[in-house]
Amino acid sequence: MIPAAFEYHRASSVSEALQLLQRLSDAKLLAGGHSLLPMMKLRLTSPAHLIDLGRIEAMRYIRQDGQTLAVGALTTHWEIESSQLAHSTAPALAEAASRIGDVQVRNVGTIGGSMAHADPAADYPAAMLALDGQIVAESPRGRRTIPSVEFFTGIFTTALAPDEVLVEIRVPATSGRTGQAYLKFPHPASGFAVVGVAAVITRDGGGRCTRARIGITGVGPAAYRPTAVEDQVTGSTLDEKAVAAAAAHAADGVDVNEDLFASAEYRAHLARVFTKRAVLAAAQRGG
Ligand SMILES: Cc1cc2nc3c(=O)[nH]c(=O)nc-3n(C[C@H](O)[C@H](O)[C@H](O)COP(=O)(O)OP(=O)(O)OC[C@H]3O[C@@H](n4cnc5c(N)ncnc54)[C@H](O)[C@@H]3O)c2cc1C
Repeated sequence: MIPAAFEYHRASSVSEALQLLQRLSDAKLLAGGHSLLPMMKLRLTSPAHLIDLGRIEAMRYIRQDGQTLAVGALTTHWEIESSQLAHSTAPALAEAASRIGDVQVRNVGTIGGSMAHADPAADYPAAMLALDGQIVAESPRGRRTIPSVEFFTGIFTTALAPDEVLVEIRVPATSGRTGQAYLKFPHPASGFAVVGVAAVITRDGGGRCTRARIGITGVGPAAYRPTAVEDQVTGSTLDEKAVAAAAAHAADGVDVNEDLFASAEYRAHLARVFTKRAVLAAAQRGG
C-alpha cells in the first residue's frame, strides 16, 4: 500500500509550522505518523503537503507548572508512561499512555497526534476528560486553551481549527485524598480500546466520595463523561453495590458503537463493568 504523492516540509519551530500551514493548501501536520501514515497508505486521506513537526524539540517536554502538569504535544506515549512526574501528578494519564498499542507504537506516537486525531477508541481522551485536562492550541491569532470536555466533538473530529497546531496538554496535579485509575478492555488485534474508562475519585475523611470525574472511550463516536454515573457516585460511600448501581448508567444516552468484534449490547455491558472497576480502583488508590 503506497500513499499518493505528496511534498514533504520539515518545520524547525512552531511558528514555521504555522507559516507553512498558512501558505500551503491541502497540508497536514505530521507528528509520529502512526495514525496519519496508515490512513494515507489506505488512501483514506491524500494531502498534497506534509508538514513534519518531528524535529521541534521545544514541543517535547513534561514539566510541572505550578499545580499543573504541562506536556508538550510532541512527547511520546513512552516518555509519558516512563515519567515519574507524570505518574505522581497525573497517574491516570501515565496509565493510559502505558496501555497504548505496543512498545513500538508508544516509542513513536505522540500525545498531540493522538489528541488531534481523536480516534473514538484512543486511550488518552478518557483520561483527559476524567482529569479535567486542557488542550493548548496555537495559531496566527495567538494561543487559546480548550477544556477537554469541549475538545472532542465527534468521530475523528475536534475543536481544533485548520490553522491551529496543538502545542500542549495541561492537567491539574492530583491532590488530597484523590485516587486515579485507567482500565481498558483492548481489542485483541489492534490493541485499541473496545472500552476504556478513566476515573478520578476524591473522598472525605469518612470515606464518602466528594467528587467524581469519569471519562469513557471506545463506546460512542467520541469520548464522553457519563455525568449520571458521576452524580450518583458523588456522596456515596463507594461500596461495591453503590458503585455498581451508579455504573449501570455508563452508556445511558450514548449511540453505542458496533463492529465485528463487539455488538452494541456487549460494548455497553463492558462500559458498565469497566466503569465500576475503574471507580473502585481509583477509590482504593486514593486511600
Ligand atoms: C499498530 C497500532 C496500534 C495502536 N494502538 C493504539 C491504542 O491501543 N490506543 C491508542 O490510543 N492509540 C493507538 N494507536 C495510535 C497511536 O497512539 C498514534 O500514535 C496516535 O493516534 C497518533 O499520534 P501520532 O503522533 O502518530 O500522530 P500522526 O499520525 O502524525 O497524526 C495524527 C493526526 O493528528 C494531526 N496532528 C499531529 N500532531 C498534531 C499537532 N501537534 N497539532 C495538530 N494536529 C496534529 C495530524 O495532522 C493527523 O491528522 C495505534 C497505532 C498503531 C499503528
